[in-house]
Amino acid sequence: MQRLNHCNVRVINKTGDKMALTGLEIFKLLPNTNCKECGFATCLAFAMRVAAKKINAEVCPYLSEEAKEKLSDSAVQPIKLIEIKSGDKSVKVGEELVMFRHEKKFFRQTLFSICIDDSKDEKEITEKLENIKKVNFNRAGEILKFDLIAVKDKSGDKQKFCRTVHLVKNIIDFPLILISETPEIVEAGLNEIPGDKPLIYAANTKNWEEMTKLAKRYNTSLVVTAENGLKDLSELSGKIKNKGLENIVLNPKSSNSAEILADYTLIRRCALEKNYRNLGFPTLLYLGDEDSFINSVIGICKYASIIIFEDLKEWEYLSLLTLRQNIFSDPQKPLQVNWGIYKVGEPDDKSPFFVTTNFSLTYFIVSTEIEGSGFSGHLLLTDSEGLSVLTAWAAGKFSGKTVGQFVKESGIEKCISHRNIIIPGYVAAISGELEDCLPDWKVYVGPQEASDISSFLNEVWLKENKI
Ligand code: SF4
Repeated sequence: MQRLNHCNVRVINKTGDKMALTGLEIFKLLPNTNCKECGFATCLAFAMRVAAKKINAEVCPYLSEEAKEKLSDSAVQPIKLIEIKSGDKSVKVGEELVMFRHEKKFFRQTLFSICIDDSKDEKEITEKLENIKKVNFNRAGEILKFDLIAVKDKSGDKQKFCRTVHLVKNIIDFPLILISETPEIVEAGLNEIPGDKPLIYAANTKNWEEMTKLAKRYNTSLVVTAENGLKDLSELSGKIKNKGLENIVLNPKSSNSAEILADYTLIRRCALEKNYRNLGFPTLLYLGDEDSFINSVIGICKYASIIIFEDLKEWEYLSLLTLRQNIFSDPQKPLQVNWGIYKVGEPDDKSPFFVTTNFSLTYFIVSTEIEGSGFSGHLLLTDSEGLSVLTAWAAGKFSGKTVGQFVKESGIEKCISHRNIIIPGYVAAISGELEDCLPDWKVYVGPQEASDISSFLNEVWLKENKI
């Protein structure tokens, strides 16, 4: 099998790569008058932002025509944005800018798609789709679920494929991927969902011309695949681009974990670091049953924009959705929920009143522990900009004074008849200042660990409040 290696990258550069310009190269194309009309103090500062693809070069009104032409390549996103639509629901992949999350952030998370095989009977398909619909849960303030359904032509029967597309569409309103190597069958599927913009899988070295025409006619995106490594894949995507189709997703057909890691990393590197246009597209990883869990972990961590699973067990999708959430959260922005009072269970005016920060994970853990304790409660989350309790305290965002102010503004006094507040055990030090701010209140220092909330409520709260 012929695979692309680093030597091939250099070959590609000689044969058509358009290199991204550096900040200094862009600076040389600017007038260097430092007039500030672009909003930056100097032309150099502006050039650096253009090089980082944070601003379009044409914001500078004094660019010569020659400079505009040279800069146009720098302004193009290195990885094309692709949208897949069903009615008013749409998902997007692409437009990534970095190799590593800590450099800025990953913009679009890996989309998960489950495959529906048209050779199965209606009952089996319906059951599978109903189970997919049930995967919908809140973790740290974010809904985790699948994103796409892939309908696969396994039967080779156009009627069956159309019936399956129709059935899927009636049961679940997810954007679709239509899988068939036969353009005629794909077209029949497209006609079942007029107005939608599914993703077509896949153009290969044999059918690419017909598939390209189809994708252009129906204004959809097309997966491009090649059996013999990245060189063939990049050549085929180049041919399709030359026919005028830019909505491309790449599927390198890597055959094992090591190849997945190498191929998807190399595609991202070629797109971002070499600005190599033929590989400047989102990627798709189509997993069979074998090693699908470990390969999907690699795909999520290393640059698969879409993963198609044949099937997933509950423990697998729970782990993978959680992994995906962790990889694709913005490292510069802590996960947070809105500040305010949250009801846990069915609290009444005598229920305990807790306060903590609005870091999503803190909210998730504390509310789960209150719920598990058998008590209902009122939980006030203060606006600590998504910081955890100790970090917020150290940053002065969870002091007695600030907590007291949030208590006053929260309206909790209308919800409870007592004046008892439970603070996290790690910030016992704020209790004095909080009592000064809330003179009518009794401050309880709760447990340090959320897992001890149940014993705290049973041993301290219940005894003192005699509910
Ligand atoms: Fe330089 Fe153009 Fe910005 Fe003026 S507007 S400072 S010339 S980059």
